[in-house]
Amino acid sequence: MSVIKKTVNYVSEGERSSHPIRHFAPILSVIVPFYNEHQVLPEFHRRLTQVLDALPEHCEILYVDDGSSDTSLMVAQSFPSTTSSIRCIALSRNFGKEFAMCAGLEHAKGQAVILIDADLQDPPELIPDMLQAWRNGADVVNMKRSSRQGESWLKRFSAATFYKLLNRLAALDIPENVGDFRLLSARVVGHINALPERNRYMKGLFSWPGFTQTTLMFERDARFCGETKWNYFKLLGLAMDGLTSFSVRPLRLATFVGAGCALLSFGFGLWIIVKTLMFGEPVSGYPSMMVVMLGLAGVQLLSIGLLGEYVGRIFVEVKRRPLYLIQSIHEKQPVAATKVV
Ligand code: UDP
Ligand code: MG
Repeated sequence: MSVIKKTVNYVSEGERSSHPIRHFAPILSVIVPFYNEHQVLPEFHRRLTQVLDALPEHCEILYVDDGSSDTSLMVAQSFPSTTSSIRCIALSRNFGKEFAMCAGLEHAKGQAVILIDADLQDPPELIPDMLQAWRNGADVVNMKRSSRQGESWLKRFSAATFYKLLNRLAALDIPENVGDFRLLSARVVGHINALPERNRYMKGLFSWPGFTQTTLMFERDARFCGETKWNYFKLLGLAMDGLTSFSVRPLRLATFVGAGCALLSFGFGLWIIVKTLMFGEPVSGYPSMMVVMLGLAGVQLLSIGLLGEYVGRIFVEVKRRPLYLIQSIHEKQPVAATKVV
């Protein structure tokens, strides 16, 4: 097999305004959403650029600052140029990771796009393997965690239960234990960007376009430092987003449970009438009445709440607000260097 070697000279900071090869498209875009990660960003950047510098492809790093209240944005903007171009997109406030990822996806120019967390739980060293899978024809390279180090038993258990429930309810195969760390081809990114919905449950949206999917296994490290930005309330909200934006089966379930309760109470009523007629017993049983009443009221409230979840999401959709707002974009061209492509 013959290997075609083409040498590309990268543009240095000073040269870039006049240089003729100023605008050449990156092959790989790495999107890094972060929120208050100033401690870990320098180490993350060091490890990422080490990997990207060794790749033959021209890469771009897209840092998306999700409205950090610490010095994270300044840290990201101060990174020196490497052989990859660096763009720092600062959102106007904290919109949440899902929207920060959307901002990254809409601004990525690469033919392949990788989403990676800034806390070093997703090792950048796996990027060459992901790229290889993409070169072999995969449109989506899912990174499945074989272990979740540094996460509590409760978190692991609740995540496993949620994925099982979601896959049972949604008419879509959303891979279990696959986070946002994955590679997407430009055409998949294009389809995801074109989806009009405001409810962005990204793990579902990544699976929605389909195409050729591959899964690679990896060991998920513990956080390098700092703390997770998710608490159980936020995770519960995300789980509800996932369930309600990918399935209407909970509504059907509510109908079935309601019908079941109605049938049971009808049978129970009949039984009381027959018992009274045959044995002349006075209607008694305050406790049983309370049980039935409370049970039915519970089912009713639950069903109304469930309806509310869907109505609330329709409300969010019809307002058609933008997903995020950008405060600034800071760009650094690659330094003069030679890469073999
Ligand atoms: N993150 C973000 N916006 C948020 C919360 C988190 O961009 O509102 C980023 C965070 O900085 C990190 C990634 O999303 O780079 C994953 O967050 P975290 O580590 O807190 O989540 P976990 O790994 O525990 O699921
Ligand atoms: Mg993390």
